[in-house]
Amino acid sequence: HAKEAGRDNFKVFRPEMAEQASETFFYAQALRGALNQAQQFFIVWQPKVNARQEFIGCEALVRWQLPDHGVVSPAIFIPIAEQQDMIIELEEIVFHKIFQQLAHWRAQNRAVLPVAINVSGKHLISGRLLPLLQSLMEKFAIPGEWLEIEVTEGVFLTDTERCIAVLKAIKQLQIKVAIDDFGTGYSSLSYLKNLPLDVLKIDRSFVDGCGEQNESDKICSTILKLAESLSLSTIAEGVEIAQQFEFLKNKGCTGFQGYYFYKPMSAEQLAQLMDCQKKSA
Ligand code: C2E
Ligand code: MG
Ligand code: MG
Ligand code: MG
Repeated sequence: HAKEAGRDNFKVFRPEMAEQASETFFYAQALRGALNQAQQFFIVWQPKVNARQEFIGCEALVRWQLPDHGVVSPAIFIPIAEQQDMIIELEEIVFHKIFQQLAHWRAQNRAVLPVAINVSGKHLISGRLLPLLQSLMEKFAIPGEWLEIEVTEGVFLTDTERCIAVLKAIKQLQIKVAIDDFGTGYSSLSYLKNLPLDVLKIDRSFVDGCGEQNESDKICSTILKLAESLSLSTIAEGVEIAQQFEFLKNKGCTGFQGYYFYKPMSAEQLAQLMDCQKKSA
């Protein structure tokens, strides 16, 4: 693999590489144990809003409370779970927790607008996702309209046909499909029109610099035009300042997510937010 490692074409050993390797090893071992300790994982919920800043749904994000260690970011453990064949088991735990919460809200007569769940490519093509969704929807009596699946562009690189078939089946369950982190993968634009998608999420890296009259502005405008021509709705992720929000809104973006509006929060906080909105509506 050293040859593929980049421009330098050979790998020089650096001390931090050993550190990284032992860190990965540490987390991989701990994660393997945690799969039998599902209570170490919990879900946080990040609201999405429309151009009037009204709540239109949320994204479920997993957190890992590793004893004596603190909360580990999914940016660290999701890639490890993917590399070491633990992602499906982990996502089954995550799905279960999400559905339990949805059932709880349902019992309280709360209308939860769609909750978006992140799914890894491996899980998508495993043959286990559809049966999992169907059994959880039945067990917890959750309609498909309450759900959305987020997949990244990368999943379409391998086994495109299979991905398309699974996504079509997901849509038949009335579940929406979003393409996450759009613009960061290796996608050719031509395939986009063949994919069964509903939502396009503009990656944070483009949102980050937009509204400052630079390249990011052009990229965001182009992505928004593309989405419109494909009749996809749009969510800008990682909106942090008013300038970004105003720019994207003016360019026709319809959905927004980011610290400017809300950070990921607990289920209780989200329920409070929903109640507030109901009263003011
Ligand atoms: P993502 O799906 O693109 O999720 C958005 C990430 O951006 C979240 O980080 C969120 O907390 C963060 N974010 C939201 N708004 C802002 C903002 O305004 N500024 C900044 N700087 N960040 C913002 P998080 O929760 O750490 O998740 C990181 C990634 O881990 C996710 O990226 C997703 O790829 C993965 N992930 C999280 N939960 C799950 C899960 O349940 N299953 C799978 N397969 N992946 C997950
Ligand atoms: Mg996501
Ligand atoms: Mg994203
Ligand atoms: Mg992202």
